Amino acid sequence: MKKFNGYRCSICGSEYLPGQVTYTCPKDGGNLDVILDIDSIRRKFQPEDITSRTESSLWRYLPLLPVSEPEGDSTPLHASGWTPVFSLPRLAEKLRLKHLWLKDESRNPTASFKDRASAIVVTRAREIKSEIVVTASTGNAGAALAGMAAAIGQKAVIFAPRSAPQAKVAQLLVFGAKVILVDGTYDDAFDLTVQAANEFGWYCRNTGYNPFTVEGKKTAAFEIWEWWIEAHSDWHKKDSSLDDHPPLTILVSVGDGNIISGIHKGFKDLLELGWIPNMPRIIGAQAEGSAAIANAFHAGTETITPVSAATIADSISVDLPRDGVRAVRAAAQTNGTYVTVKDEEIISAIAELGAQGVFPEPAGAAAYAGLVKAASLGVVGGDDPVLVINTGSGLKDVRAALQAVQSAPIIEPTLEAVKKLL
Ligand SMILES: *Cc1c(COP(=O)(O)O)cnc(C)c1O
Ligand SMILES: [Zn+2]
Repeated sequence: MKKFNGYRCSICGSEYLPGQVTYTCPKDGGNLDVILDIDSIRRKFQPEDITSRTESSLWRYLPLLPVSEPEGDSTPLHASGWTPVFSLPRLAEKLRLKHLWLKDESRNPTASFKDRASAIVVTRAREIKSEIVVTASTGNAGAALAGMAAAIGQKAVIFAPRSAPQAKVAQLLVFGAKVILVDGTYDDAFDLTVQAANEFGWYCRNTGYNPFTVEGKKTAAFEIWEWWIEAHSDWHKKDSSLDDHPPLTILVSVGDGNIISGIHKGFKDLLELGWIPNMPRIIGAQAEGSAAIANAFHAGTETITPVSAATIADSISVDLPRDGVRAVRAAAQTNGTYVTVKDEEIISAIAELGAQGVFPEPAGAAAYAGLVKAASLGVVGGDDPVLVINTGSGLKDVRAALQAVQSAPIIEPTLEAVKKLL
C-alpha cells in the first residue's frame, strides 16, 4: 500500500511527489508537510479500528503513518510512544484548576519525546535504503536516533555541542553511535550536519529539516485523542456540568518548534479525517533566554528572528528554531499562545513535579513552569482542562536537578546524630 502522496511546502504551498525531494522545499527552503491520502484512510478505517488495537506503542497508528511497520515487534522501536497520563490533583488545587494531567514522555525507550521521531526516521531510512543516518542534537534527538538505530542494527552519526549534558553524551556512546562533539552551539552542529550529510550521502534526521520527524511526533496527539475520549466518558459519569466544558489545553515546551508542530499536525490529521469535532488549544512554553518563536508569535509574524540562546534547559536552547513557522501556527491556529519562563521558574518546576513523583529534565519542567505562568496571566482559566507534557527525564541532567533541591546532610552513623539532626 502506498503510505503517502507526497509533500507540501509549509511556506509556498508547492507540492512534490514522494521521490522528488528529501528534505526541504527547493524553492524557498520551507519545511515540508507529508501529505497523507486522507480520503483513502477515511474510506478504509473507522476510529474504532485504531482504538480497538492491542498494540501499545506508536505503531498503533500505522494507518496514519507514512511508513510501513518495521520488522520485529520486540525491539525498542516498538516501545516508543504509548506513554502514561497522570492526574496531578495537588498541583491542580494549587493553581485553582479543576483538571490537570501530565503526559510523561520520559517513559520512552531513551527517555525523551524524541524517540517518536527517531523511530519513524530510522524506519524511513530503511525504506529508502540509507545505511547511515546522521543528526545534530542538543542530546536527546541524538540519543533517540542512536538508540533506535542500534535497535535495528543501523549506523548513526551524531553531532552535538560539546556542552551537552554528560548523561546524554553517555547515552550516545553506549548506543554505539559515532559521536562528534562540536566546539560550538547546537546551531553550529545543525549546519555542519546538513553539510556532512550532503557531502557523504548520509540520511539526515535533523529536527524540522527532515519531514518525517513531525510524522513521528504527531503520534502523541493521537494518544492524547484516545486518552481524551476515555477521560471524557469518565467525566460524563461523574459530573454532568462538564458536558460543555472548554476544549483541552495542552502545554508543551518549545525549542526548534518541531514537537509542537508535530502535535498540531496530529490533531489536524484527526480533524481532516472528521474524527474530532474541534481542535484542542496548544500553548508553547519557551525559556526567556531562548524565545525566538514566542517573540515572533507575540509580534504577530511568522518571521523568526534568531536570538543568542542562553538557558539551563539545554534541550530548548536554540538560536534559530528550525521549525519556527509551523510552531507559530500551532498556537495561532488553535487559539493557543506562547509563554516564556525564567530559568529559576524552570528549576522550581522540577521540584514541584518531583514532589508529585515525576522527574523531568529542565526542558520538560519548562512546560509546567509555562502553565504556572499562563495561569497567573489568566491565559488558562480554572475551568480549562489542562494537559502538560513532560518531554524528557530528569536523569538526563542531574546537575540541573540538584539545583532544584537542597543537598542532603551527612552524619556520623549513630542514632544520636540522627536525633540531633531531626
Ligand atoms: C527536543 C526537546 C524539546 C523541544 O522540542 P522542539 O521540537 O525542539 O521544540 C523539549 N523538551 C525536550 C526534553 C526535548 O528533548
Ligand atoms: Zn516552498
